[in-house]
Amino acid sequence: MNNIWLGFFWRLAAVAVASLLVWPVAGAAQALGLALLLVLLMLLHHVRHLARLSQWMADPRPEAQPDSSGLWEDVFAAFYHLLRRQRRSESRLTATLQDFRKAGMAMPDGLVIVDGGNQIEWCNPKAELHFGLDAQRDLGQLITYLVRQPSFGEALDAAGYSEPLTLRSARGGDLILSVLIVPYEANRKLIISRDVTDRERVETMRRDFVANVSHELRTPLTVIGGFLETIADMETPDPALIRRSVPMMSDQAKRMQTLVEDLLTLSRLESSGNPAREDPVNVPDIARALYHDALALSAGRHKVTLLLESDAWVSGTEDELRSAFGNLVSNAIRYTPAGGEISLSWKDAGSGAVFAVSDTGIGIASHHLPRLTERFYRVDRGRSRETGGTGLGLAIVKHVVNRHAAKLEVTSEPGRGSCFSVVFPESRVSKPDVAAKRA
Ligand code: ADP
Repeated sequence: MNNIWLGFFWRLAAVAVASLLVWPVAGAAQALGLALLLVLLMLLHHVRHLARLSQWMADPRPEAQPDSSGLWEDVFAAFYHLLRRQRRSESRLTATLQDFRKAGMAMPDGLVIVDGGNQIEWCNPKAELHFGLDAQRDLGQLITYLVRQPSFGEALDAAGYSEPLTLRSARGGDLILSVLIVPYEANRKLIISRDVTDRERVETMRRDFVANVSHELRTPLTVIGGFLETIADMETPDPALIRRSVPMMSDQAKRMQTLVEDLLTLSRLESSGNPAREDPVNVPDIARALYHDALALSAGRHKVTLLLESDAWVSGTEDELRSAFGNLVSNAIRYTPAGGEISLSWKDAGSGAVFAVSDTGIGIASHHLPRLTERFYRVDRGRSRETGGTGLGLAIVKHVVNRHAAKLEVTSEPGRGSCFSVVFPESRVSKPDVAAKRA
């Protein structure tokens, strides 16, 4: 500013000097006229530049700086630098905002910002998915209108709510959400949603599993405990009772033992520290051994046949395959009344191979089929128990099948029989000469 004042006074002094020089030559009136003219020119110059400044301020782009010289050059230059600084900080701000926006978009959790009236200000794609929102269409809408669960509305109203809330997704279906509402800045709220469907499912499975195991153990323990108490209460043990009770207690103990063995097998199969092996496994040999086991188990009550149409081997874990196939064979015998037929087969199928066990037994209604491989799922609980079933056999089969990249296929018709097939893909199957070399 000092320069501007200095420049102004210099120009004023120049006008005065010019008038003073003209005065002796042309007289006072002319000198005054000249001074007035020069001051007017100065005024015109400034008004013209003021107009250009005002025009520039209406469209303040640095590149639109007007040409100028003298005092106005300094003013325009100062304004130009101000604009440049502003533009730089604006683009820094925009970039930061965009970064935040991108981070919000990429968040694995849903985020919704609502104002004091619970109207949606912003939401990310995960929140759209969780709550069935549309980031464009639903802006300004009441979130309680779109997410209608009463517990959600109550949580929003409770100021400073800090416990996560478990909600079923507004979209229906099976999605289970954990929703946290965080109040911030005056009345606004940040709603954070997380998909906890898997966690809840695992938790439910764990609860069911513990309940099932306890239930399975209760009956044998009650039988054994009951006999032992009766015997303990007798002054002189009754030999007839002992003769009757010992085989029963022993049966129940065996039942518990089988259950524990199946549970251990399942837990080994599920353990991450036990990856599936890739040993060459001679399936025809296993099928032959299982055929003999089946004859022994059936004890002449069924017609058992073995159809070996393939000499293919499979790469995998021999014990696991033997146990899975064995479960299928034992089920076929247990669920087929005397006089029925049971057939074991090993065939090439397309580029893979299939191990199948079919029976002419009681069969299974189609609505049970999708749940057969769940732990402890039984079509007929009484029948399963009577024949020494634990309800874990097919769960074990499914695990083994998955670990061998194979597929379990079941076809069944009540009253006519069932067929359980394990279909191995080409990648797991090899011909004996190749397999033998690898062994
Ligand atoms: P379980 O020990 O009860 O046999 P599994 O897991 O092996 O348990 O089988 C689950 C259920 O599937 C059985 O309880 C039975 O109802 C049914 N099931 C399995 N195999 C057969 C079959 N071959 N024929 C009829 N029902 C079967």
